[in-house]
Amino acid sequence: MRVPRTLACAVTAAALGLAGCSAEPPQGVTSAPGPVASTSTPSATPTVTPSATPTPSATTTPTPTVDTPPKDTRKGAQRATPYEVNGIIVVSKKHRITAAYGPEHPTGPYHLEAVAAKALARMTAAAKADGVRIRVHSGYRDWASQNASYQRALKNYPQNISFYAPAGASEHQTGLAVDLWDGVTWSLPMANTATGKWLFAHAHEYGFILRYPNGKAKITGYHYEPWHYRYIGRADAVKFGNNKLTLEEYLGLA
Ligand SMILES: [Zn+2]
Repeated sequence: MRVPRTLACAVTAAALGLAGCSAEPPQGVTSAPGPVASTSTPSATPTVTPSATPTPSATTTPTPTVDTPPKDTRKGAQRATPYEVNGIIVVSKKHRITAAYGPEHPTGPYHLEAVAAKALARMTAAAKADGVRIRVHSGYRDWASQNASYQRALKNYPQNISFYAPAGASEHQTGLAVDLWDGVTWSLPMANTATGKWLFAHAHEYGFILRYPNGKAKITGYHYEPWHYRYIGRADAVKFGNNKLTLEEYLGLA
């Protein structure tokens, strides 16, 4: 893992409202541990949903397991439909989407997919009840604006390009991802704010996962981003309670 040497990307990310850009971590912060889940963390006992017991009949279709994810065989315009595993959309550098894709039911000021917007509202209210402020730094971004940001970075910050998402490889285009903060502290220090700690401990209860955990860049393709939360639904998200797991590992893609 290359250690970035300047704050250029972070500043740029903030200025441009980038989120596919993993903000440049300040020197010496790279190896800092993420926030420690407080002892008040609710037990995230994964609720094991019993899969329907298959009745022995010729028409029974076996439930797909995470051990055998389908191959991503989409090509060209087929990528207007995102790759999915067990009903969970996966958008990454390995599983890209075309400009044609966007949230199916966009809503609110951040143009998020309706289910994600609703969950975010619930989560924000719960945090507020705990005295913690959650603000959205970045929500949906379309292919063109992601591409413009990436091209700008390629030209101006080529040394930091691995911190930016190429167009089609950003979860923000799905309307299922949000960059969150307290409205004050951005970049890696966000992890140690009350907002960063609250999200780290509770986001999964509302269906959001820390999508790019610390030390998992080789699997996710992105540097640690304490602000980037992805909605996958509560039933799956509760299994990410300790924020060690990546979506790739969970779905058998790693
Ligand atoms: Zn983001």
